[in-house]
Amino acid sequence: MVTHDRLDYIRARMHKAIRRFDGPEREVELVAVSKTFGAEDIRPLLEAGQRVFGENRVQEAKAKWPALRADYPGVALHLIGPLQTNKVRDAVALFDVIESVDREKVARALSDEFKRTGRNLPVFVQVNIGREEQKAGIDPDETPAFVKLCRDELGLNVVGLMCIPPADDAPGPFFAQMKQMQVSEGLPFLSMGMSADFETAIEMGATHVRVGSALFGSRT
Ligand SMILES: *Cc1c(COP(=O)(O)O)cnc(C)c1O
Repeated sequence: MVTHDRLDYIRARMHKAIRRFDGPEREVELVAVSKTFGAEDIRPLLEAGQRVFGENRVQEAKAKWPALRADYPGVALHLIGPLQTNKVRDAVALFDVIESVDREKVARALSDEFKRTGRNLPVFVQVNIGREEQKAGIDPDETPAFVKLCRDELGLNVVGLMCIPPADDAPGPFFAQMKQMQVSEGLPFLSMGMSADFETAIEMGATHVRVGSALFGSRT
């Protein structure tokens, strides 16, 4: 299958899942996760009209995206991986949305850079919904206070929550907890669901799904 067909196939599956969602009909944003793939793999998706992409490394994105952006107007680039504070300047210059605000130090560094540049990007707070030792993100119990800090003290434009649920458990209950938190925080967006579970995530109320291997093939 060429990527163009894969894109159609993913979009069709998304629409079916949207119809199964028990709530008002809505749009779900497909974030095409292009990490590890080169420009030659990304161009067919751009040609097919895809404009929202996710990358997890600032340096890698910096090497790939300026040239692609020059050829395809309207690209929105989401940072979905951990951000080091020494990469904040590059990240703010390059990305359009930061989905991975996962600790106070990063939130503060972003706030400083937004003030310095006047470029106040929308951000998502990453929640460690499975409370996993090795995983980034804010503890679910601490998320309300963290969102408040980001918004009220740091002036961040918090638009949503993001999570990566535990790999070995059924994701549904984690997605449901995320949905509850998004609603109680009054945030418009919820980024959850990847290649293996994006339909479940949509059924549970995701507004953004991040799909990599199902679009591009497996990463080596
Ligand atoms: C790699 C990655 C994805 C995409 O994963 P696939 O299983 O390839 O769809 C989504 N979200 C994050 C944060 C990632 O790092």
